[in-house]
Amino acid sequence: PFDVLVVGGGPAGASAAIYAARKGIRTGIVAERFGGQVMDTVGIENFISVKYTEGPKLAASLEEHVKEYNVDVMKLQRAARLEKKDFIEVELENGAVLKSKTVILSTGARWRNIGVPGEAEFKNKGVAYCPHCDGPLFAGKRVAVIGGGNSGVEAAIDLAGIVSHVTVLEFNSELKADSVLQDRLYSLPNVSVVTNAQTKEITGTDKVNGISYIDRESGSEQHIELEGIFVQIGLVPNTDWLGDTVERTRMGEIVVNNHGATNVPGVFAAGDCTNSPYKQIIISMGSGANAALGAFDYLIRN
Ligand code: FAD
Repeated sequence: PFDVLVVGGGPAGASAAIYAARKGIRTGIVAERFGGQVMDTVGIENFISVKYTEGPKLAASLEEHVKEYNVDVMKLQRAARLEKKDFIEVELENGAVLKSKTVILSTGARWRNIGVPGEAEFKNKGVAYCPHCDGPLFAGKRVAVIGGGNSGVEAAIDLAGIVSHVTVLEFNSELKADSVLQDRLYSLPNVSVVTNAQTKEITGTDKVNGISYIDRESGSEQHIELEGIFVQIGLVPNTDWLGDTVERTRMGEIVVNNHGATNVPGVFAAGDCTNSPYKQIIISMGSGANAALGAFDYLIRN
């Protein structure tokens, strides 16, 4: 059996595997796609101490760094089930069962897509998902935020300080965000809110030039000219496969304490799949290191 088995090969998993392996304990990492969301990122400007890098380059460095250590790397494998017996058992989709004294779950998350024409085509060409990452790219430009929940309204308030104008598009008849956020939003001079807006299409040529939506009250089609669109309709953790084995929030995020421990002894979690409030590369790496140290601490006490 492994001492530490990491499930997920994004920034959190890579960091956890390195921290575990550096303790000289038997470490494995299973990942469907090494690099995780980083593989879908073009420019990265907020990975501190690296002024600019690109996703695939950072993903390759993560893998190279992991391979410096004695880590059993199992790529292109999906975990399908977790069970606590004498050891913690992780069953893969191919039927293999891996046993370990501790497990670190770092299966990340994915942004929910709006699923309209133009979204996939203009990803990274005006369509963005992360205001902390891509907000500055739209300095002085016009953007829309799709989604009027807490994350959409937070994004709109954040972007309003950078861009020239923000339009919030909400499908329902009212915003769902907390009222304190709505008050702040409505106090800003360069924000407008459109409710009952069903996004129809993201338009553009080589990059985004606008968005079309149906006004659900009148049924009429409207078009707004702009340069950027932030889709904020939810970040979904990749945790369905865990079922009821590990405590998760209503949103499906794995609940961890400040040692990265879940409610199941020996099972730890890190990164975007957890209930950590902010989801970023640097935060995931820190949380992976934290969970690995938590797992090591657990091992020396049990
Ligand atoms: P992930 O990166 O999601 O990695 C999850 C890993 O788990 C992957 O290896 C995946 O294949 C694997 N996995 C999932 N399910 C299973 C399973 N059942 N079995 C086995 N393996 C599984 N952050 C920044 O800080 N700066 C940026 O500029 C930035 N830009 C972004 C741009 C885009 C388009 C996106 C999508 C995200 C961006 N982010 C950025 C956010 C950042 O990428 C994430 O916060 C970070 O990658 C989370 O790391 P993670 O290791 O927790 O999860």
